[in-house]
Amino acid sequence: MSKIPRLMPTNPRMFRAEVVRTERVSPSLHRVCVTGPDLAEFPWQGYDHWFRLFLQLPHQRRLRLPDFTGSRWWQPYLAIPEDERPHCANYTVADFRPEAAEMDIDFVVHRGPTGELEGRAAIWACGARPGDALAVLDQGVLFDCPPDASEVLVVADETGLPATSGIMRSLPRGTKGRLIQEVPTAGDRRELDAPPGMTVTWVLREGDRSVPGSAALGELLRHRPADPAGYAFVVGESTLATEGRRHLHRAGLPKERITFSGFWKHEALQAA
Ligand SMILES: Cc1cc2nc3c(=O)[nH]c(=O)nc-3n(C[C@H](O)[C@H](O)[C@H](O)COP(=O)(O)OP(=O)(O)OC[C@H]3O[C@@H](n4cnc5c(N)ncnc54)[C@H](O)[C@@H]3O)c2cc1C
Repeated sequence: MSKIPRLMPTNPRMFRAEVVRTERVSPSLHRVCVTGPDLAEFPWQGYDHWFRLFLQLPHQRRLRLPDFTGSRWWQPYLAIPEDERPHCANYTVADFRPEAAEMDIDFVVHRGPTGELEGRAAIWACGARPGDALAVLDQGVLFDCPPDASEVLVVADETGLPATSGIMRSLPRGTKGRLIQEVPTAGDRRELDAPPGMTVTWVLREGDRSVPGSAALGELLRHRPADPAGYAFVVGESTLATEGRRHLHRAGLPKERITFSGFWKHEALQAA
């Protein structure tokens, strides 16, 4: 397997953009296609390329962005008065078409206990109209497979589906391994452009009110011990990420061969 560069940019670039169209691609994923004057220059690397998404607040007429140089965007961001500070959240490039300067972003649509839409970014996405302003700050790629990896294991809940779709599409065609992908419903499964040597296991949560990520974790715990020369990428709800890493390390995979990231934290677990 050829190594891909670790692509956390040292001088991340901010791109202003606007909504072109939106589409419900599956029961739990809402796609927003965006474009921008410079977006064709977004240095898309495939895999799980991610970015910080900046959204204007509902009462604002114009999106105010932090002024910064180099990589230090956080302090200037916090220096913006709270009632003008844009909402910021992390998202993955679901697809990118440089010739049209278009980027797709897939938002997980999640609901609270009484069925109301929740999550500021998902609420924004579901109400987005053509022309609505946003900005994206390039953050590079997390997937960091060593060149000698004998097999690749990828595990995610639905927030990681845009990342795992991109990883499957970007992996060298000779890659062997397994994807364990949890989704809320059967309708959220999608065609993946995975190498033929990757076994894809969809884990459905349908009708099950368990915390997202716990079904994928259950499947991962049943996965046969990892080859110490392999590589694993585990993302999604924070317990899936941390417990998944612990299991793989105990099973013999060195820590430096595991990329894990808590993409979000379930409310019931936040106080814990
Ligand atoms: C590198 C990276 C890439 C990511 N890529 C994507 C992506 O492409 N698509 C995507 O949908 N998410 C993605 N996420 C996850 C996303 O950043 C979080 O879900 C985030 O909380 C959404 O921001 P928000 O402002 O709407 O959340 P908030 O408004 O802060 O969330 C409000 C509440 O919603 C709950 N919540 C958040 N997300 C979910 C969820 N998915 N299901 C159930 N409850 C939830 C939280 O517990 C919180 O209590 C990514 C995260 C990271 C770190």
